[in-house]
Amino acid sequence: MIDLRSDTITKPTEEMRKAMYEAEVGDDVYGEDPTVQKLEEKAAEILDKEAAIFVTSGTQGNQIAVLTHCQPGNEVLLEEDAHIFYYEGGAISAFGGVQTRTIKGKRGAINPNDLRNAIRGEDVHFPETGLVCLENTHNRAGGAIVPIENMRELHQVAQEHSIPVHLDGARLFNAAAELAVPVKAFTEHTSTVQICLSKGLGAPIGSIIAGSEPFIRRARKWRKRLGGGLRQVGVVAAPGLIALTKMADRLKADHERARRLAEGIRNITDLKINNQVETNIVVVETEATGKSVDEILSTLKAKGILAVPFGPTTIRLTTHHQITDEHIDQTLIAFQNLFEKVK
Ligand SMILES: *Cc1c(COP(=O)(O)O)cnc(C)c1O
Repeated sequence: MIDLRSDTITKPTEEMRKAMYEAEVGDDVYGEDPTVQKLEEKAAEILDKEAAIFVTSGTQGNQIAVLTHCQPGNEVLLEEDAHIFYYEGGAISAFGGVQTRTIKGKRGAINPNDLRNAIRGEDVHFPETGLVCLENTHNRAGGAIVPIENMRELHQVAQEHSIPVHLDGARLFNAAAELAVPVKAFTEHTSTVQICLSKGLGAPIGSIIAGSEPFIRRARKWRKRLGGGLRQVGVVAAPGLIALTKMADRLKADHERARRLAEGIRNITDLKINNQVETNIVVVETEATGKSVDEILSTLKAKGILAVPFGPTTIRLTTHHQITDEHIDQTLIAFQNLFEKVK
């Protein structure tokens, strides 16, 4: 199977498996797991924040961040298609008692004036704006890189109103690799950031939240409340440390493969590419084939290719470290055979 469903499907490398076996461990709820401590220190350094905390998933990381930043009744501002709004089961409302207010962005980027207009003023009728959430790369915008300059402007608007900014950076390392800048070029325009170790970076489990020392102390309490305080979790932090320090350099290869995949698919008459393919995500528009997304996905599956639905007439293909050049060739041949009429 050529599995292009997500970069989450990546399996731990040989080196990660060995590191898991050899990891020094302790009870992390007592703050006694040396491997977790090493990971958190390294993550804080790379993300250029005072402190960091290891959490079970990106969703848990975003939830803990929102719960730590906000009070019930606050309003959280986010882009219309943000993962936190679209794909997290309404968790921030369910657990945090906050309401969301979405802003329509352009390829994942919010216009700073739209943000300014959405921030609530002093009025007895209004909820308080508690947090601005950004996302980079932006998943539903097809892995788009939100420009650093845009983040700087949004951060400035938020700061003028003393509102914190949280970055959902599940794929932040993809953005940094593509622009050839350190991740701190993005995180300096945020109060807190969540990054996934288990996507393109290839760790089996885990995310990091980074922020100020007092913020992370409070986040630790929320993690415990949510049942995310784990014990000898160094066995999971060890591959996370490899993901963080050794896997980012190869992300550009995923992006190049995604672009080659998109180029090939573009040559097929009935298919279109819906995104700019800046990173590792390709969004394919299938409407002109006259076939349903489900039908297309099951035909592809029969040819050994897995993808996911992304909209009523779109599918998403994601490259990652287990997708090779040969897999791209094979996928393109399968697409050509299935949709025939080559331009
Ligand atoms: C995958 C993803 C998450 C959630 O991560 P999980 O580890 O799957 O919970 C959050 N935000 C974005 C943008 C993502 O792509």
